[in-house]
Amino acid sequence: MLPPPILTIAGSDSSCGAGVQADLKAISALGCYALNALTSVVSETPGRVSKVCLLDADLVADQIRVLLDAFPIAAAKTGMLGGRSQVEAVVQVWKERSLSQLPLVVDPVMVATGGGKLLEDDAIEVVKTQLLPLATLITPNMDEAAVLWDRPVTTRQEMAACAQDLAAAFGTAVLVKGGHLIGAAADVLYMAGEKLHWFESERTVGVQTHGTGCTYSASIATGLGLGMDLPQAIDRAKRYVSAAISDYFAWKGSAGTVHALN
Ligand code: PLP
Repeated sequence: MLPPPILTIAGSDSSCGAGVQADLKAISALGCYALNALTSVVSETPGRVSKVCLLDADLVADQIRVLLDAFPIAAAKTGMLGGRSQVEAVVQVWKERSLSQLPLVVDPVMVATGGGKLLEDDAIEVVKTQLLPLATLITPNMDEAAVLWDRPVTTRQEMAACAQDLAAAFGTAVLVKGGHLIGAAADVLYMAGEKLHWFESERTVGVQTHGTGCTYSASIATGLGLGMDLPQAIDRAKRYVSAAISDYFAWKGSAGTVHALN
């Protein structure tokens, strides 16, 4: 059987732990064929963003269009979009091609773990008003959830309330990721009309993760492209990401130790 093509629309991480490179690895490892539309090139290493170059919005739209023309894309994800015009380009193609039935996972990437800014401020409003309503699932971490919700998200109760409010506001399923919670790494899924689902995994201590959010959302999109429902796709993706974290690599160099997901 041919592997379903999965599209990632995201930025390039020169260290290949996050961004489009993380997505390509996850999609391939989980049994699908990876396609990419690049939005930006970031020169970075884990924990350090040096330079960000956003690509022309027409080029972003054109990459998506040519891929849609050529491949039977089964699901898509967005990662780092970078700026307002790149977000608008994605929205424009989704509308002109009537892609509302195509499973779309939106990872609302804003800031790298090391503090580097990956989304311009004036793009946040367009993400909220135009992109999130097109999503099948959005996957904010606690910081991104707080920006979208306009309130702090620090506890399990707040994660659950936030997931329900965002689902109602944007008409999409919401997975709030609690990787920053003390204790087990717990994420909560809310889909309209359903009970909350919690997904938990052991925390691996001592590793500075980079690219876990990218890997997670790409893995979920892959599951959806293979025909899984949301809880099944998230459960498999969570197990894949947790295994990649606990099997991490560490290199010692002049800039200190760098960690990468296996
Ligand atoms: N670099 C790129 C290109 C990304 O897309 C992302 C996250 O989506 C990151 C860096 C951030 O990775 P992390 O916060 O895991 O360091």
